[in-house]
Amino acid sequence: MNFTNISTSRRKFIQHVSGAIGTSLFAFSAKTANSFSFREELPATAGIQQPEKQLGIALVGLGKYSTEQLAPALQETKRCKLVGIVTGTPEKAEKWKSKYSLVDKNIYDYQNFDSIKNNPDIDIVYVVLPNSMHAEYVIRAAKAGKHVICEKPMAVSVQECEDMIKACKDASRLLSIGYRLHFEPYNLTMAELGTKKTYGEIKLVTARDGMDIEPNVWRLSKKMAGGGPLMDVGIYCVQGVLYTMGKYPIAVTAKEGPKTDMKRFSEVEQSLSWQFDFAGGAIASCETSYADEMNFLRADAERGWFQLEPAYEYKGIKGETAKGKLDLPHVNQQALQMDDFATCVLQNKKSKVPGEMGLRDVKILMAIYEAARTGKRIELKNL
Ligand code: NAD
Repeated sequence: MNFTNISTSRRKFIQHVSGAIGTSLFAFSAKTANSFSFREELPATAGIQQPEKQLGIALVGLGKYSTEQLAPALQETKRCKLVGIVTGTPEKAEKWKSKYSLVDKNIYDYQNFDSIKNNPDIDIVYVVLPNSMHAEYVIRAAKAGKHVICEKPMAVSVQECEDMIKACKDASRLLSIGYRLHFEPYNLTMAELGTKKTYGEIKLVTARDGMDIEPNVWRLSKKMAGGGPLMDVGIYCVQGVLYTMGKYPIAVTAKEGPKTDMKRFSEVEQSLSWQFDFAGGAIASCETSYADEMNFLRADAERGWFQLEPAYEYKGIKGETAKGKLDLPHVNQQALQMDDFATCVLQNKKSKVPGEMGLRDVKILMAIYEAARTGKRIELKNL
C-alpha cells in the first residue's frame, strides 16, 4: 500500500522549502523541564520583503566538514555567503582565497582572530573546529561582536556550553548549533508523524549511528573530542529520539561495548548502547559505534511504524512508513541551515536550533556517560 499523503507531503515540502529557504517546519521551544514542542511555523518570508542583503560568513577551521560540505553549501545560500576564513595553515588560506575569491583582509589565523571585530564584512562566525575548541572560539567570536554558529557537539562539558550561551547573551549576539537535520524533510517528517501521533502513541524508538573510524585522528582523543562516537555521531540518535518523540526522556541506562581495538580506542569508547525511558512507558533503544557502520531511526507506535535508513546522512536519506515509502525532496541541508540562521540574524529572532538545544544535548550525553560508568539508572532532570 502506498503512503496516501505522498504527493501532498512532497508538494508541501517543495513549496515550503523553495518558498522559505532555510525555514524548518518545526521549532524547538523548551516548555517545561521535561517537555518541548516542535512548533509549526509560517515560512520566514511570509508577509515580508525578501531581504536583499546577504550576510557575510567566516568559517573557522578548514577541515573536512568546512571543505566538503559548508563551503560548497555557501555557494547555494541566498541570505549569506562565504566571505572569510580563519585557518592556521597558510597554504589552505591561499587555496581558499583563489577558489572562493576571498579578499586578503578577510583571511585570519588563530592569533589575529580577535581583530575580526573590526571587519564589517563578517556578520557570522561559524566554528568548525575540534570539539574541545568550540567554547574558546564561540566566546571569542561573540566578544568580537559576531553572531555565531557552532558545530555539534556544542562543547565537551555542560559548563562550557553555559559559558558560551552567556557570552553570546552578554554581547547580544545570536548563537546556533549546526543541527542540519532540523532542515531536512525526511527527519522533519519523523518529527511530524511522531508529534502529531499519526500512528498513535509511540511505544519504541530505535536509533543507531556509527562509522568505522580511521586511526590517529583528534576524534579518538578524549581531550580533543570529549568522548568517542557518542559525542560525534551518537548525538544524532539523541536528537532523532527527541524530535520523533517530541518530549524529553525521564531517565537513561547505558552500557559501554567491549573494546576489540585498543590501538584506536585507548582513550574513548569504541561503542555504547543506551536506553531512554519516557513517562508513560515508551522507551528508546540507541546504539553508537566507531567500529561499525549504522544509520537508522525508527518509531514503532500503536497503529504502525515509520523509519529512516539512512537517517542522518548529508544525502540519500530514505524513509518508509507502515503505509509505504516516503517520497520527499532532497535538499542541501547545510545551505538551508545557514540561510535560516542568516534570516534569524536579519529578523533578530532566535534560531530553531539555539545554544540552549546544544546545552540540553550535552547534558544528556554526559548523563549517558554517567549511566555507563556507574551502571546506574540516571534521572534526566533540568534539561
Ligand atoms: P577535521 O579534522 O576534518 O577538521 C578540523 C579542523 O580544525 C582542521 O582544519 C584542523 O586544521 C583544525 N584545527 C585547528 N586546531 C586544531 C588542533 N589543535 N587539532 C586538530 N585540528 C585543529 O574535522 P571535521 O570533520 O571538519 O569536524 C570539525 C567539527 O565539525 C567537529 O566539531 C565535528 O563534530 C563537526 N562536524 C559536524 C558535522 C555535521 O554534520 N554537522 C559533520 C562533520 C563534522
